[in-house]
Amino acid sequence: MGKWSAQKIDLNRVYPCPCCRRGGRLQQITLTDALGCDRCQQIFVLKESDQILEQLSSTYPAQRAWFWDGQTWQRLYQIWGRITPLNGFSLLLVRLPLLFILFLLVIVLLAIFGFIQLLATWLNGR
Ligand SMILES: [Zn+2]
Repeated sequence: MGKWSAQKIDLNRVYPCPCCRRGGRLQQITLTDALGCDRCQQIFVLKESDQILEQLSSTYPAQRAWFWDGQTWQRLYQIWGRITPLNGFSLLLVRLPLLFILFLLVIVLLAIFGFIQLLATWLNGR
C-alpha cells in the first residue's frame, strides 16, 4: 500500500482495461514489463514501483495514468508535472489561481488601454 490507497499492480493478475468500455482485459506482453489490452490494443507500462499504470500513447496530449484501488482503476491527473488522483472538481480548484491570474492580467491590460485613451483625449483637448 502507498499513497492514495494504491495497490501494487501484480503482473500475474488479470485486470480489466481502464480505457475501453468493451470489457477488455490487460495481459502481460511476452518478455516485457508492459501490459496490453486484448480488445483495444492499447499498451500500458507500470510506473512508481508498480503502483501506477500509464498508457503508452502518442494520440493523447497528456499521458493517461491510473492506480488500482483494489476494486477498480482510479484515474490520475498530471498537474504541473505532478501526478495526483484529483477528480474534475478538485482539478478546477487547483487551476483556479491560474484563472485568477489571467483575469487580473486582463484587468490590468484594460486599465492600461483605458489610461492611454484618457491620455490621448487629454492631449487632444489641449
Ligand atoms: Zn482496452
